[in-house]
Amino acid sequence: MKSASLAKLGLRSRFDFVLHLPHRYEDETHLTAPEHAPAGKPVLIEARVQRAEIAFRPRRQLVVRADGVVLRFFNFYGSQLKQFQRAAEEGLKVRAFGEIRGGWFGVEMAHPRYRIVEDDEPLPDALTPIYPTSAGVPQARLRAKVLEALDSGPLDDTVPGELRERYALPPLDESVRLLHRPPPGVDAAALVERSHPAWRRVKFDELLAQQLSLRFAYRNRRRRKAPVLRADGRLLRAFAQQLPFKLTRAQTRAMNEVLRDLVEPHPMQRLLQGDVGSGKTIVAAIACLAAADSDHQAAVMAPTEILSEQHARKFGEWLAPLGVRIAWLHGSLSARERKQALAAIASGEANIAIGTHALVQKGVEFARLGLAVVDEQHRFGVQQRLTLRRKGDATVPHQLMMSATPIPRTLSMTYFADLDVSVIDELPPGRRPVTTRLFSATRRGELLARIRAACAEKQQVYWVCPVIEESKEGDVQTTVETHALLAKELNDLRIGLLHGRLPPAEKAAVMADFVAGRIDLLVCTTVIEVGVDVPNASLMVIESAERFGLAQLHQLRGRIGRGTRESVCILLYGEPLSEPARARLKVIYESTNGFEIAQRDLELRGPGEYLGERQSGEPLLRFADLERDRELVEQALEAAGEMLARHAAAARAHVERWLGSRRDLTQA
Ligand code: ADP
Ligand code: MG
Repeated sequence: MKSASLAKLGLRSRFDFVLHLPHRYEDETHLTAPEHAPAGKPVLIEARVQRAEIAFRPRRQLVVRADGVVLRFFNFYGSQLKQFQRAAEEGLKVRAFGEIRGGWFGVEMAHPRYRIVEDDEPLPDALTPIYPTSAGVPQARLRAKVLEALDSGPLDDTVPGELRERYALPPLDESVRLLHRPPPGVDAAALVERSHPAWRRVKFDELLAQQLSLRFAYRNRRRRKAPVLRADGRLLRAFAQQLPFKLTRAQTRAMNEVLRDLVEPHPMQRLLQGDVGSGKTIVAAIACLAAADSDHQAAVMAPTEILSEQHARKFGEWLAPLGVRIAWLHGSLSARERKQALAAIASGEANIAIGTHALVQKGVEFARLGLAVVDEQHRFGVQQRLTLRRKGDATVPHQLMMSATPIPRTLSMTYFADLDVSVIDELPPGRRPVTTRLFSATRRGELLARIRAACAEKQQVYWVCPVIEESKEGDVQTTVETHALLAKELNDLRIGLLHGRLPPAEKAAVMADFVAGRIDLLVCTTVIEVGVDVPNASLMVIESAERFGLAQLHQLRGRIGRGTRESVCILLYGEPLSEPARARLKVIYESTNGFEIAQRDLELRGPGEYLGERQSGEPLLRFADLERDRELVEQALEAAGEMLARHAAAARAHVERWLGSRRDLTQA
């Protein structure tokens, strides 16, 4: 067994082995007579070996006849045949663990786990642990390694006694031993369901470690220096006098939270969460003004070129009249224009730089970066966000991350505990909820009439084509074909085509045409998924909606319902629908509330969707389940606060033990 294959299982330190817990158990503590074995349940039997031979029908196999039972092996070594033949000669018994089946010639077992035993060999008195493993790490060897680690001494407890008492947690040492070697009479169901107190203890410790490590990260960042920005400068006050609309209460609250952070000498780490269309952009613009007012620069990074263009346009409309200089870095700049933009950013002449991840590339130097805004933050990798932050030199710029994917509460309490969170939980007035309709793909024909009717009323329409997983170009291909087909069917309309493979200039031109109302129907891929804001679009068709995830459908649907007209989103689905797809479509049909959808999504699919880069590599939680162990989550949160305040050394030891050998991206 190579240490490389063990490392792949995450097994390096002693504690890693000790915490490599069984995912199930087998009961080998008593024998069952083969003829009395219950159907479908693995049992341990013992029988004297009589004969072993290789049979060839219906396929090559090793057949072992023992007292009252036949064992069959389809993959076997020659040494196994010899082993059984010797056992037969010496009159030894085989102890086999597996499911009994009624066969043609009496009861049989196929591929049991087995051992040749002497007559009076005692049975184990504990359940046999079965460990998660992978190719190259045989179960028996792994078990030996784990038990060796367990037996090499007692485990001290990093959770102080008073906290253990308060949450009724058994000692760690006792808990871990029980899980590896459950004693006779243990509540086996509680072990399997992971509700046993020993499991509670392990899950508590895991959640505590996660919570502590995020809070350490938070504290470390707070220790760094950031430029102190002004929240009452000339530009900010001027803009407040001439806002394009009255801010909602939630926007005002979020704005105040952001401004309060910016005047501190520590870097802000704030996540601004708000459902699609809740109006996060203006809050970001106001934060940028705070930077400009204190002679610092702001960078606004968006995940797509289209979105960065939209920001550049909005920021221009709002802020340019105040004399704010905006540099937009985008793909269609000529070499000369790009050089000029870079020079403006480097000299500090540009107050705000807007762009995609192009902003974090080499050659982009800021004179005095004070604030980094990352829109749709889950679309970026940690590295990209960090690089942007590092563009500030002596100090660390403040960071405002925005996300339109609502994060369920349990998640923001746990995985996002290293961020401060502001929530915009209210939509601007006058919005009408989007009506969602489900259409089987066979009703595609009816849609054409609907699209015509909408366009006749000067409304605009999105037609979204799915991403085809199998091939990178596939989605572009279907989008191009759909566009051609629709252009024929609806030849009285102005139809645009937008997908990721178009040259940047063409993408920008198409988007500009759609914004300006020169295109009636935009056939597109999910490039429009995030952020695009065209209030006059009120009808959206999503083709093969069953292929999209919930968060994605919600985002896409958020592109409409932005004006004052009634908006309709039609989900076309192909049949037959799988159960999970049906469940997803039902959720999106029934709800327009992003937080509710996110919560359902979490239940249906787990937290993966929300974590983006946070979950790459090893999962942060192996044992606890945020939903099922909600109570433990709350307790671990509370305990983390107390440990940091009163048991700092134990807190550090706890994190080191649990996360020591793992790379924790959130620490970076
Ligand atoms: P998101 O939170 O999805 O980024 P945006 O910032 O793009 O939302 O805002 C969505 C739309 O709502 C934009 O057209 C924006 O100008 C408008 N908007 C934002 N806040 C308000 C408000 N308080 N009143 C009216 N319209 C608003
Ligand atoms: Mg947005």
